[in-house]
Amino acid sequence: MHPIRILILAVLFYILYRLLFGNRKKKQATSQVPPEIPAQDTLAEDPICHTYVPQSQALSVEMDEKTYYFCSKECRNKFIEQQERRES
Ligand SMILES: [Zn+2]
Repeated sequence: MHPIRILILAVLFYILYRLLFGNRKKKQATSQVPPEIPAQDTLAEDPICHTYVPQSQALSVEMDEKTYYFCSKECRNKFIEQQERRES
């Protein structure tokens, strides 16, 4: 075999190895570290438990032309219940 062919094969194996190894490493990193919240994402106050939640990840309800944001389904349901009680 020509020495250059061996070199090309070695490079190809190296690239293949890097691709496989690199992908595996990436997957591990994403499963361990939660996705970062973008800095420009505005925080909204949960009117039920008063924690601040990023608007893009929060649950929202539109009421009286205002949008309310919640940390969880439970808080959203509580809020809707409160509003319904107030109206009736
Ligand atoms: Zn909440």
